[in-house]
Amino acid sequence: MLNFTTPIEKLAFVGPRNAPRLKKLGIKDVRNLLWHFPARYEDYSQKIPIDQIREKGEMISIIGTVTDIKTTSSWRKRMTITDATIEDDTGIIHAVWFNQPYIERTLLTETYVSLSGKVALDKRGLYLSNPSYEKISGGEELTHTGRLVPIYPETEGVSSKYLRLLISRSLNQIPNIQDPLPKELIEKYNFPPIIKAINSIHFPQSQQVADNARQRFAFEEILTFQLRSLLDRRQLQTLKAPPINFNKDLVGKFVKSLPFELTNDQRLATYEILKDLEKNYPMNRLLNGDVGSGKTVVALIAGYQTVMAGLQVVFMVPTEILAKQHFDSLCSLTKATNLKIGLLTGSEARQHPIDEVTNEKISKKLMQQKIASGEIQMIIGTHAVIQKNVKFKNLGLVIIDEQHRFGVEQRMKLLQSDQETRDKRQVPHLLSMTATPIPRTLALTIYGDLDVSLLKEKPKGRQEIVTRVIPHSKRQSAYKFIGDEIKKGRQAFVICPRIELSATSDKIQETSKLLSQSKLVWAEVKAVTDEYEKLSKQIFPHLNVAMLHGKLKPKEKDEIMDKFKNGHYDLLVSTSVVEVGVDIPNAVIMMIESAERFGLAQLHQFRGRVGRGQHQSYCLLFTTDEQGTSHRLKAMEKTNDGFVLAAADLKIRGPGEFIGTKQSGIPDLAMTSLTDLELIKKARLEAKLILKGDPSLQNYPNLLARLSEMQKMVHFE
Ligand code: ADP
Ligand code: MG
Repeated sequence: MLNFTTPIEKLAFVGPRNAPRLKKLGIKDVRNLLWHFPARYEDYSQKIPIDQIREKGEMISIIGTVTDIKTTSSWRKRMTITDATIEDDTGIIHAVWFNQPYIERTLLTETYVSLSGKVALDKRGLYLSNPSYEKISGGEELTHTGRLVPIYPETEGVSSKYLRLLISRSLNQIPNIQDPLPKELIEKYNFPPIIKAINSIHFPQSQQVADNARQRFAFEEILTFQLRSLLDRRQLQTLKAPPINFNKDLVGKFVKSLPFELTNDQRLATYEILKDLEKNYPMNRLLNGDVGSGKTVVALIAGYQTVMAGLQVVFMVPTEILAKQHFDSLCSLTKATNLKIGLLTGSEARQHPIDEVTNEKISKKLMQQKIASGEIQMIIGTHAVIQKNVKFKNLGLVIIDEQHRFGVEQRMKLLQSDQETRDKRQVPHLLSMTATPIPRTLALTIYGDLDVSLLKEKPKGRQEIVTRVIPHSKRQSAYKFIGDEIKKGRQAFVICPRIELSATSDKIQETSKLLSQSKLVWAEVKAVTDEYEKLSKQIFPHLNVAMLHGKLKPKEKDEIMDKFKNGHYDLLVSTSVVEVGVDIPNAVIMMIESAERFGLAQLHQFRGRVGRGQHQSYCLLFTTDEQGTSHRLKAMEKTNDGFVLAAADLKIRGPGEFIGTKQSGIPDLAMTSLTDLELIKKARLEAKLILKGDPSLQNYPNLLARLSEMQKMVHFE
């Protein structure tokens, strides 16, 4: 007998060669195996007698006996052809396989076999081309043929056929699964109970049965996720945070010192945040605003107030480039104050203003000391660095830019230990910021119960960026246009998507998630290098072209970025790393290669990189689609409103792609179901009801177990 925690190595048919491959798919134990759900099903359910086979192209299944089988080699074509004759009571048909000579040894004459596949036609008549086959012994249920057959996410050496074998065997041996979903809910929503659901999702009787099972699991995951969010939230509310008094005079003066006037949305958001900070429990607010809507300054004002109240502020950003840029812009925006700002990333530390004895650049170690002593009041850095090594004297506010989820635990981590004098249960306030406009229900699912401030309005005087989809036929004139702009002294960004490593496009869908991070980076490097070669050698040989990709050291990236900023390069070819935040006012062209490969929300982010100076800016969406009429890309020409584009994007691609599963910590299945707002609402409601009736989930041991399992998963990431 198996149970969930049985490691896959213990299963029959899993040897030392396959175990690591399975692990690559995230399958370490029986539980992972059974929860490796099919991506889709091949419909082989049309079972017919041989004499009913009528048309080529049909997808059919037959059962019969092999009466003859032989393999011939065609040297000229370098392939083998295995030809079997199959008979049933009604007739005879041939089945043909290419380059699979071993089949001859499996399907010996007299074998009783089930075959499923496409009907093909040649001069000899109708035959089955490369059908799936399965020997029939006893009364066992069919696994690979004659039914809806599951097709799984695969990886090298792990085929769907192999997975079907492992899964169907494991299903037969599972003793007893505790159902995490309470009975009432199963009944209320008419979901299949767990055992049935797990069987149905792998080997369904019909598509509908499969869909029901999938819904059930999605509901279960969203429910669990919601419970966790609600519990997090509750835990947060039992914690204390330092109340920070909103000093209106002080803030008013600071705002006056800024080089621009705040928009109304910025004012309101600032007010909401400053009001939250006054409370003695931690703020949990999301500042959501389109690229360029001016989120940074809102965060800065909150940070300024916090520092003036004697507490430290940390500003976490996703990349080093962005950290440096934030550091520069915060330094310049706080000229009128004597705020002490520090930059701390994997590669460097800087301080502002400089003191008598040191330079702007200081050692990381010294920076850590200055943070620990409280001398540095506002720290900007990449999250990795800040979470790991830094001890604060008295942290009051954490600001997180462009990141989606940040829970209680991480906040606790930030506060490590040495704050002897303070209540251990005290945590900093949290402000997260994102440029991804997320519908509210979705936001609630991802972030839990949080408060949202919206920046809808852009600062005054922002130019409209002209966006054009460039089909293949207009490429040359677009290049000329770019050349002309550069002649006028402007600069351009070129973004290219990574080159996919696998061959068939169908496979990419299923496997791209599984490619290791490093392979992805290399695919990007290749894409960027190719584009760089093309642009610098063929198209713009007289220009200074630079490239930026994930394999460069942070220092190299910064150097290139700095040189681009200073006008040393005309054109910067890059992967999507420039996506977030970089500010280069003289860059007026954002050219995107194979734009159809990106989502609208992402394209919109790229576009936000230009239009930051006084010159008219352009976004050119190069596409390989011949007419360039792609409906999706055309939406970019029509609107500059990130919220409109995001809504469209969410509809087209679903939330998984839209938000990025990794960042959200939401399980895949729940993710794909997030377009189903009804399902989310239901799960949310039920989660609330459950907690209301039973705050510690005492009566729901299985659900509690599921919850801690999910928690564990998130922690291992
Ligand atoms: P995002 O919301 O994308 O993070 P930023 O905070 O980087 O946007 O702001 C984009 C640019 O707009 C910055 O150069 C910033 O100084 C400027 N900015 C912010 N608020 C205003 C405003 N009210 N008026 C004019 N410029 C502003
Ligand atoms: Mg920003």
